[in-house]
Amino acid sequence: MLGNTVTIVGAGPVGTLAAIYFAKEGWDVMLFDLRNDPRLNRGSTASTGKSINLALSHRGIEGLRGASSELASMVMNNVVPVYGRMIHDRKGQQSSQPYDVHGMHINAVDRGWLNGVLLDAAEKYKNIKVKFGHRLIHSDFDKRIAKFGTENGEIEVHADLVVGADGAHSTVRRQMMRAEPVDFEQKYLDTLWCELSIPAAKLPDGKETYALDPNHLHIWPRKTFMLMSLANIGDDKSFTGTLFMPKANFDDIVYPMDVVDFFNTYFPDVVPLIGEDYLCRQVFENPKGTLVSVKCSPYHYLDRCILLGDAAHAMVPFYGQGMNCGFEDVQRLFEHIRDTNSISSALENYTATRRADLFAISDLAMDNYVEMRSSVSSKMYLARKSTEEF
Ligand code: FAD
Repeated sequence: MLGNTVTIVGAGPVGTLAAIYFAKEGWDVMLFDLRNDPRLNRGSTASTGKSINLALSHRGIEGLRGASSELASMVMNNVVPVYGRMIHDRKGQQSSQPYDVHGMHINAVDRGWLNGVLLDAAEKYKNIKVKFGHRLIHSDFDKRIAKFGTENGEIEVHADLVVGADGAHSTVRRQMMRAEPVDFEQKYLDTLWCELSIPAAKLPDGKETYALDPNHLHIWPRKTFMLMSLANIGDDKSFTGTLFMPKANFDDIVYPMDVVDFFNTYFPDVVPLIGEDYLCRQVFENPKGTLVSVKCSPYHYLDRCILLGDAAHAMVPFYGQGMNCGFEDVQRLFEHIRDTNSISSALENYTATRRADLFAISDLAMDNYVEMRSSVSSKMYLARKSTEEF
């Protein structure tokens, strides 16, 4: 064993997966999150500011498998396989673009459920302690101390290694930048996203069914904006749509009739699926999220700190790879940890070998926005394929 105690900040999907990997290697793990236990408050975007479902693809599944093949299999039994895109034109006509002739596919998974399953798996390890309601305030890596705010005041913990898995606006990253020169770049897109639930359709016999083909990622590309939609697994047979659009276009929608006009003009086939009233309510009431892309380097400080997941590389979601890359981060990190008996060498090797890949996928994610909202509707494009996207 290389170290003693690891303090993981952030019990999102990446931090929780990292906790399991560390525990399996014999470390004593403390996993902290500023939120309350998300298992107590499932299915609300308002509470997390995150999408309801996401696409799990090969690199993410391999990351899960590295922790436990049972865990990976269990997750894969609770996904909706997505074999291609379904492009909806302005007349409501649909055309399918399969991802792969051999049936390779991505997988729609419920974000809250996945996070909960990982937390359940983590809590089975005696050497993992999970603490919710703990916000990292300060970390002194040289003194090996991390300080957290709780509703009962501040506490200090000893940490041989701090893992920053605390998301795009990472406090650990800010603390690391005080100790180490870190190159840092942050870009916001002039695009907001808003989720719109598409309820089940009713069959003539009264039973409920998906309103769209659940095995496709549905895209309504409209050049400067787009709607996309993924099926949710479960009895309610709903889809979650996400409208990605410049802020100015959202600002133009003031009255319910603006919503109806806008959707009838650009997404006419969606209006009867959601219904005008429910559509208007969702457009006005559902939160509008921002999209940020973060690049930084290095990802580590000596043998004391490492950034994983969005804390290291928040990316725009158009390649569907943010969480998948975060899971792969954990897997790659442990390949380096197992390769050497020095944690500082492992972290150094991780930064050196991981940076180019993460910068590349972040750029691809940015490029894929143009592809999804515009290029997918061009005929020439039909010949090109990709399984690494939403
Ligand atoms: P997060 O999920 O952000 O978790 C960070 C955790 O840290 C949170 O629980 C937070 O409460 C906690 N925290 C923050 N600060 C502190 C602090 N100071 N102290 C203690 N705890 C703290 N990715 C995919 O792979 N596929 C997709 O299809 C996909 N779709 C997406 C769609 C949308 C609309 C968006 C916005 C993103 C999408 N992503 C997708 C990206 C994905 O959501 C992220 O990459 C993923 O959530 C990153 O996980 P994480 O654990 O690194 O960070």
